[in-house]
Amino acid sequence: MIDIDALQAGQPRALAKAITLVESKKLDHRTEAQALLEKVLPKTGNSIRIGITGIPGVGKSTFIEAFGLYLVSQGKKVAVLAVDPSSPIAGGSILGDKTRMEMLSRSPDAFIRPSPSEGSLGGVALKTRETMLLCEAAGYDVILVETVGVGQSEYEVASMVDFFMVLMLPNAGDELQGIKKGIMELADALVINKADGESLNYAQQTRRHYQNALHLLRHTSFWTPQVLTCSALKNENIEAVWGMISDFQIDATKNGALQEKRARQAKEWMNKLLHEMLEMKLQENPEVRKQMPLLSDKVTRGETTPYLAAQTIIDLLFRG
Ligand code: GDP
Repeated sequence: MIDIDALQAGQPRALAKAITLVESKKLDHRTEAQALLEKVLPKTGNSIRIGITGIPGVGKSTFIEAFGLYLVSQGKKVAVLAVDPSSPIAGGSILGDKTRMEMLSRSPDAFIRPSPSEGSLGGVALKTRETMLLCEAAGYDVILVETVGVGQSEYEVASMVDFFMVLMLPNAGDELQGIKKGIMELADALVINKADGESLNYAQQTRRHYQNALHLLRHTSFWTPQVLTCSALKNENIEAVWGMISDFQIDATKNGALQEKRARQAKEWMNKLLHEMLEMKLQENPEVRKQMPLLSDKVTRGETTPYLAAQTIIDLLFRG
């Protein structure tokens, strides 16, 4: 049993236990986890949720360490989560690994949790969303969700956070950066890291390049995407990144956009889950499994219409 009082008092051990419950695949754990989440729901939503992406080597962990330590110095409690469906065994980097953020992980005001390692991207993302809620219930003010900028995981992260940030290298041109146009369109900010030493000039050039291409980015009624430079290694301009996000948070809260965005995300999440659950019910139903290939053959042979075949499957599923 999870000690909800201890969780809401922010005890890291209670939080870690609750996350383990949420991540469990066992059916009775799932039921218990959902009951817990529903109970803590009124205590959630009080953080700013920030997504951070960027190709391997751009400096994500260095940035999160510097940014997290800065936030802690400002009296914030910071949780670092990750969505990384590439398992470490398959050679992927281990996001949220504490050794990548050594100083931050030692801070009593920081909580770092690696990505759930098993399952589909959708499954991993679901667990990270739920973990985010637990962290909020435990009183964390800033939730950082990290993901690698390859594959589909950035879309998942962008759809669970308030503010989505792409870290970039100081050499102009997205082709060089390996960043897809679709990702740029999700960004609320581009942050060019490694703006130090010999790269400083490049970083500034790159900043101008992206500022001139801002029309490619998504604008909302109150927010124009920003382009900043920083050096995570030298700890430079880190506070400017927070200043920007903090402005966003204040504006988006005042004009209701934040609440609206979260409500939309929650509804989309519900719909996605509904489809996944239906899909699972289809796969689990023995009669459907038996009839599906037969019906599919009939459709390909032109013996029945796709509509009637689909209707038959639905009837089988809901027969009781
Ligand atoms: P990740 O793979 O995106 O997490 O990148 P890391 O944080 O591991 O950083 C990759 C490399 O870039 C490391 O050698 C870092 O020390 C270096 N690095 C990170 N941030 C900066 C920076 O602001 N300036 C410089 N010069 N190097 C940096």
